[in-house]
Amino acid sequence: MLGLMQHWPLVISRIIDYAACQHASREVVTRSVEGSIVRSDYAAIRARALKVAQRLVRAGIAPGDRVATLAWNSARHLEAWYGIAGAGAIYHTVNPRLFPEQIAWIVTHAADRLLLADVTFVPLLESLADKLATVERYVILTDRAHVPDTRLRDAIAYEDWIDEVDGDFAWVGVDERAAAGLCYTSGTTGDPKGVLYSHRSNVLHSMAMCAPDALGLASRSVILPVVPLFHANSWSIAFSAPMTGAKLVLPGAQLDGASIYELLESEQVTCTAGVPTVWAMLLQYLQKEQQPLTSLRRLVVGGAAAPRSMIEAFEARGIEVFHAWGMTEMSPVGSIGSIKPSVAHLRGEALIDLKCKQGFAPFTVEMKITDDAGRRLPWDGKTFGRLKVAGAAVASAYFRADAGILDDEGYFDTGDVATIDAHGYMQITDRAKDVIKSGGEWISSVALENLAVGHPDVAEAAVIGVPHPKWGERPLLVVVAKEGREIEPRSLIEHLRPKVASWWLPDAVEVVAALPHTATGKLDKVKLRALARLAARDLDGDGARIAEAWHVDRMRAGAAGNDDLNVFGPGRDRQ
Ligand code: ADP
Repeated sequence: MLGLMQHWPLVISRIIDYAACQHASREVVTRSVEGSIVRSDYAAIRARALKVAQRLVRAGIAPGDRVATLAWNSARHLEAWYGIAGAGAIYHTVNPRLFPEQIAWIVTHAADRLLLADVTFVPLLESLADKLATVERYVILTDRAHVPDTRLRDAIAYEDWIDEVDGDFAWVGVDERAAAGLCYTSGTTGDPKGVLYSHRSNVLHSMAMCAPDALGLASRSVILPVVPLFHANSWSIAFSAPMTGAKLVLPGAQLDGASIYELLESEQVTCTAGVPTVWAMLLQYLQKEQQPLTSLRRLVVGGAAAPRSMIEAFEARGIEVFHAWGMTEMSPVGSIGSIKPSVAHLRGEALIDLKCKQGFAPFTVEMKITDDAGRRLPWDGKTFGRLKVAGAAVASAYFRADAGILDDEGYFDTGDVATIDAHGYMQITDRAKDVIKSGGEWISSVALENLAVGHPDVAEAAVIGVPHPKWGERPLLVVVAKEGREIEPRSLIEHLRPKVASWWLPDAVEVVAALPHTATGKLDKVKLRALARLAARDLDGDGARIAEAWHVDRMRAGAAGNDDLNVFGPGRDRQ
């Protein structure tokens, strides 16, 4: 027997309808790409999104068509999203930090018909335009005065484009299971893979994120997503903020410590979310300038493991750190580190230990850890296993790909290795491909890296497995020194010795000037392993050092005009 309640499809347009009705004048503040601070509100975002939808329909965009955005966090980007989804089409957020060839590949794979881009990206698009055959028109997210002279096909200023319609329009009705958004994973191995979010999955994921144990959003909250809209739905914030009426502060292209600090203070932000790299920049700024944070209460950090010292530094300032984990395939949040009653008694070091874990799954996410044969492993906080997930906002397949990605129980293998403790707290111990298998046992590269960055001279650390005739693999620690400091390898080993089992201690420490990163700013261990191989092969003898191979490789890359060794990924140059 079916229930007798109304059918109220969980579609994205309802979110902005609600915000414009109940929280109409709640602000959406943007640091615009043009430089100024621009103030909008939820009523205006909805009104302009309706124009976007109407204009798209007039352009012949049909339900299911893909419309790309290549843009920083801004009100225009936000209204474009709601407009695209409200036209029944699919917003495809393109990550500008991907390598240019990857951008061309995914726009073509997605068959994007229109591309909405910030002014910042016009030169990049011009260099790729010949390869973007599916794109019929480029809309530049600015007004006429700021559109550069461009040869991009049929380019038009966004403001002119939406002014061609009056906004007297009704959202295009779609099934709640219809596709709403498309986001490609960066594809450090193989081609990027498209994750196709539905209206329903976005709504449910965002509702779960509003909860007190997650983002803890309410109408009086002020949230600043440093995490970009193009990075897996800005961890839901593009939806969860309007869903609650929280004020939204969008930082545009300026993500350095000083710029973020200025917005946190001037807008009296209460909650913010971003990757560790961003928080490291903010902390450096705070320490250097001796500045306080007067309104911030909650800081969500994820996308990569948050170093212990970072968690301690923010907690010492009275800011609650929520360590989160997730991935594009999970919409993206899979766990978040709030405090359950069973661990509420923890203080000091023990509390920080808990916060170093990536937290527990919210409602809508189910987890298990298994061995290589797929057998479930115990939740004892010690046993490592492959982390697999199922849920309302977890991918069931990749866009335009045939291969199945779920196991017999319908779980998706995240490619991460983790422990889960008796309280349900999960801790990532590695990527499955990065774990070091020494003498049949597993060594967590992430645990060693976190301990290494706790050393006062170390700015960044990476641990990789290098082949060993007896043990199979042994850990090699590669480090970058803090500015003005020198690293003494022996002191680093002594720093680690009391903290890990003796067989976990790295066999060697290499000091390098910079570590390679992927386009999304994560350590590029594939590249690092290649460098280690290069060091072993090209620079023979005992003195073989990654630092030298690294230098040789950079020279070669430089000669070839290849910027893929830029430590921050090419996107940083374009910011
Ligand atoms: P990609 O970088 O391939 O596009 P995502 O951005 O979706 O993929 O990143 C997902 C991966 O990032 C996870 O599988 C995990 O390895 C890593 N990750 C995310 N959050 C954390 C965290 N808090 N701690 C450790 N690793 C994390």
